[in-house]
Amino acid sequence: MSNRTYQCHACNRVNNYNQKFCNNCETPAAVAALRSTGKDILPCDFLFALLPIEQSVGSGIHSDVLLPLNDIPAHHCNLEFSRDLFTITSPASHLAIRLNGKAIKVNQKYRLEHGCLISFANEEFELIYFNKKTAAQNYKNLNSKTWLIMP
Ligand SMILES: [Zn+2]
Repeated sequence: MSNRTYQCHACNRVNNYNQKFCNNCETPAAVAALRSTGKDILPCDFLFALLPIEQSVGSGIHSDVLLPLNDIPAHHCNLEFSRDLFTITSPASHLAIRLNGKAIKVNQKYRLEHGCLISFANEEFELIYFNKKTAAQNYKNLNSKTWLIMP
């Protein structure tokens, strides 16, 4: 149905988006997950697996991370993956996304650190990288404490 692909973070092999494991080295496709903290409807510890590609978040049926909630826009934000880190960008929306308790600015890109908290309406998620060591090395090189990437 889709020609969408992801690049394996271990061996760089290009795989079909729907494959759970790399065709070459059998490394799991997911590199991170959004873990629900159980603040609203989703149960605590409910996981959305994240692949090392751009993914959309929203209540629309074509969202990669589908939040089936009335108060969340059809297309709420995008998660991009680059150099072992995810970033979040929110298009114009009536509903602010909160990162570690602070509303993010529209059309600005924010880095997502291991353990950061992201809120969509009343739902809250913790971002968990499966390879914390890789993520931690990247954080060391950051010079901004706000995680905001200036355009
Ligand atoms: Zn691989």
